[in-house]
Amino acid sequence: MTRPMIAHRGKAFEELFARLEAGLRDVLLTARPVYISTSSASGLMEGAVRNAPSGPLLALVNGAFSSRFAKIAKACARDVDVVEAPWGKTVDLSDVERRLAARRYAAVTVVHSETSTGALTDVRAVTELAHRQGALCIVDSVSGVAGAELRFDAWGLDFVLTGSQKALALPPGLAFGVASSEFVRRAREVMDRGLYFDVVEFEEFAAKNQTPATPALSLLYALDAQLADILREGIERRWERHAAMRDATTAWLKRAVTRVDLDVSILAPDSARSPTVTTITLPEGLKSADVVAAVARRGFVIGGGYGKLKDTTIRIGHMGDHTMETLRPCLAECEDALRDVGGIKW
Ligand SMILES: *Cc1c(COP(=O)(O)O)cnc(C)c1O
Repeated sequence: MTRPMIAHRGKAFEELFARLEAGLRDVLLTARPVYISTSSASGLMEGAVRNAPSGPLLALVNGAFSSRFAKIAKACARDVDVVEAPWGKTVDLSDVERRLAARRYAAVTVVHSETSTGALTDVRAVTELAHRQGALCIVDSVSGVAGAELRFDAWGLDFVLTGSQKALALPPGLAFGVASSEFVRRAREVMDRGLYFDVVEFEEFAAKNQTPATPALSLLYALDAQLADILREGIERRWERHAAMRDATTAWLKRAVTRVDLDVSILAPDSARSPTVTTITLPEGLKSADVVAAVARRGFVIGGGYGKLKDTTIRIGHMGDHTMETLRPCLAECEDALRDVGGIKW
């Protein structure tokens, strides 16, 4: 990232961009161009909404980020209906089907890995349901891509966005998006889709190995290095490593419950757990901030709860460059911290 700046309309940049594209296509498993946006992921959430065909949107909400997606759509003056599931669960596919049949929607918004709850939604199934009713599907896979299985082309997805700072394990500041040619075709008909996140512009500039506006070049240098690492491991092996870390966290908690003698449990059901983050519900009286602080004293950083789960849950991130070897000592210290903090209170 300390390499000198180069002109973003020059040959050296175009070579770099072409290499990044090849790597990103292998991560998202697509032959489509992958848009590189200088923004946080929220930028492309807004962009996806603004580029989506006009008409009402159906937002699947099962946590803080999917709720934010609905909020972004409303802030873009879209007519938004919400189909909800309790936080921690995924929205029932039969509910989605019923709602899609009841009104003609232009698009559906869904979050793949709900980072607030650790729930994983079957975005392929949601997209298929949307298509059956003539709607497109916009997928936020910010904590999914590069950690959870996602096959853009094979699954027939319409739009997927992600950010640099989650399972891609890069500094924040970049977002990536990929759109089907059908999504881009429909976007051309949307007259007020804006410019900074215009998929038509992204598409035209990617064809020239460029970005529409000045990119955060230093972050692209980091992406270049990280993509080389990711492809060395292989995307499928990377998914397997994440799934193994999720399973180890699940197994650890089940054993830890009896050892710490506390009523701790994993929020998301066994069948729908994100491979990148585990949200753990704490017993009443135990405060998330106290557990997080006790873990920090032991040299590890875990997350507190998010949104309305802020005080009642903790979150263990097992994504990006983490491995079983880095996770194990973290889990051991979490257990020690729970025993310690729980012991004081109980
Ligand atoms: C982190 C996150 C976002 C927001 O990303 P920013 O980069 O902060 O804009 C959106 N959705 C999900 C699922 C996330 O995990």
